Amino acid sequence: MAGTKTLTIIKPGAVSHEYIGPILNKINEAGFHISAMRLFMLNRQQAGNFYQVHAEKPFYNSLIEFMTSGPVVVAILEKENAVIEYRRRIGHTDPSKAEPGTIRKMFAESMERNAVHGSDSDENAEIECDFFFSKSERFSIFDKHHF
Ligand code: ATP
Ligand code: MG
Repeated sequence: MAGTKTLTIIKPGAVSHEYIGPILNKINEAGFHISAMRLFMLNRQQAGNFYQVHAEKPFYNSLIEFMTSGPVVVAILEKENAVIEYRRRIGHTDPSKAEPGTIRKMFAESMERNAVHGSDSDENAEIECDFFFSKSERFSIFDKHHF
C-alpha cells in the first residue's frame, strides 16, 4: 500500500522571496494536511546528511552552500499516495521542464534554487520525517486524537 506522508523543504531562495505563504497555499489547495512544520536554518551537517546521496555530484558543494544560506521551512505533508502526489505537484527538478501550475514552475529560480524538496520514495519519506521531527512534534490527520 502506498504511504500517506512525505517531507517537504521550502528552500532558502523561496523563503527569502516571501513565497512561504503562496507555497503553503498550493500545498493546502492540493489537499495535503500539514502534520509538522518548522522554520529554521539547516547547519552544514544536517544539509550534508540530507543530500548525502549526491556527495559525489559536481553540484554538491554549491547545493550545500545554498541550502545553508538562509532559513528553510521543513514540513511533513499527509495525503493518500503522498510521495507521488506531491512530486507531481512540485514538477520537474529543472523548472524550465516543469509543467505549468507546478510549484517549481511558479516559484523556482533555477535547477539548484528550485523552491522545494519532496521525498522520492515512501522509504525515504520515513527516514526524512524521522530526521527532522520527533513523534511529539507530529499531529497526524489519521490520528483521531488530534482533529
Ligand atoms: P529534491 O531532492 O530537492 O526534492 P529532486 O529529487 O527533484 O530534488 P535530485 O536529483 O534529488 O532532484 O537533486 C537534489 C537537488 O539538488 C535538486 O532539487 C536541486 O536543488 C539540486 N540539483 C540537482 N541537479 C542539479 C544540477 N544539475 N545542477 C544544480 N543543482 C542540481
Ligand atoms: Mg531528490
